Amino acid sequence: MSFFPVFIKVARSLYSALKALLAGSPVAMPSLGSATLGKDDVKLARESLTSRSGWADGAVVDKYEKMFADWNGSSHAFAFMGGRVALSACVHALGLRPGDEVILPGYTCVVVPNAFMYAGVKTVYCDIELETYGLDASKIEEKITGRTRAVVLQHLYGIVCRDYEKIISIARRRGIVVIEDCAHATGALFKGRKVGNYGDAAIYSSENSKVYSTVMGGIATTNNDNIAAGLKDYYDRAPLPDDGFIDRLLHNVILNYYTYAHPLRWLLRDAVNIMYGDKRLISTTDEEERGIKPVGYGCRMAAPVAAIGINQLNKIDYYNDKRRETARRWKKWVVEKGYAEPLVIEGSTPVYLRYPVLVEPELKKDLKWAVNDLGLVPGVWFETHIHPTSRPVHGCPNADRAVAGCVNFPTLMI
Ligand SMILES: *Cc1c(COP(=O)(O)O)cnc(C)c1O
Repeated sequence: MSFFPVFIKVARSLYSALKALLAGSPVAMPSLGSATLGKDDVKLARESLTSRSGWADGAVVDKYEKMFADWNGSSHAFAFMGGRVALSACVHALGLRPGDEVILPGYTCVVVPNAFMYAGVKTVYCDIELETYGLDASKIEEKITGRTRAVVLQHLYGIVCRDYEKIISIARRRGIVVIEDCAHATGALFKGRKVGNYGDAAIYSSENSKVYSTVMGGIATTNNDNIAAGLKDYYDRAPLPDDGFIDRLLHNVILNYYTYAHPLRWLLRDAVNIMYGDKRLISTTDEEERGIKPVGYGCRMAAPVAAIGINQLNKIDYYNDKRRETARRWKKWVVEKGYAEPLVIEGSTPVYLRYPVLVEPELKKDLKWAVNDLGLVPGVWFETHIHPTSRPVHGCPNADRAVAGCVNFPTLMI
């Protein structure tokens, strides 16, 4: 490969940075991406790419699962190539069948309903509350029918959902299983225990945009031995991703470091993008947006990815503390501006993947104010009810309000 275009890119980046400096604008904005991937993770990725051995080594994955289970306080953990796959494993383990119904928040990511739809389970959407963006317990009972078998509760933005205990108690009373979606909330606590340990099964994500990153990856946990046997059954039959995919993923560790975390990313990211940009993975494909199960869906985690996971778990508490620190700053800003701060329920410690604020819809439509006043572009999760698709959800006015006005600020100001 010729280094001339790389050189040109670096020169251009330097020029834009100088222009920004002279104009008094920031050269690199705090990012919403995987800023927890550091130099040490890049080193691991490069080592795996060089050695190209042990990619099917189950022992590394076992170690990661055991480490996660211990750290999370769960009896069982199974690692997959996505939180969505972990969710599919839960659907299998809980014995959900075609014709069964699941209650989901009407403000979620498309891969959540997909995991149920792939198994023929009917998705029923229920409204959220606007204090933590979780399911509104007072709206759940009216959604329960004779076929309802499961409910998914969600700790969005890393905040422990307001009706946590109420939802679980309704489900227990009505004989419904609870799956906790902790994709945003890995490490959040409730009454001294990590979230995910209160329902029947839980999923966590280490996708790029989550609190810790293996570029792609997810874990299913449970404290119930029967459900664990079902998860293991799915796991044992799940294939490993092919070497081409693993190669791409490891290059994404490098790409992401230079895009989101490197101190000179403003100078180097375009150059690195020229070198490896064709390897960039997208987390949700067009097929998934259309509700079609993509080829290669359903893999368990491969060893070099688990090795990154182990390294990330060693750092996760440090980064989660940083997020909580930044959240205190956002809280001040929110109070000053007269907005409502997200609710921290009694006994909970959020991780604040992002700091959500409900603003006027005009402010969500055009984010220039944030660039000007705060020097960053806030996140807009979610701009539709079933992110990022335009699948309609009716009868969820709070979710409508969140779609129109929830913006969310980064919490790792690197
Ligand atoms: C990201 C996400 C998931 C799934 O995680 P992946 O690892 O990307 O498959 C599930 N639920 C929510 C709310 C998410 O944002």
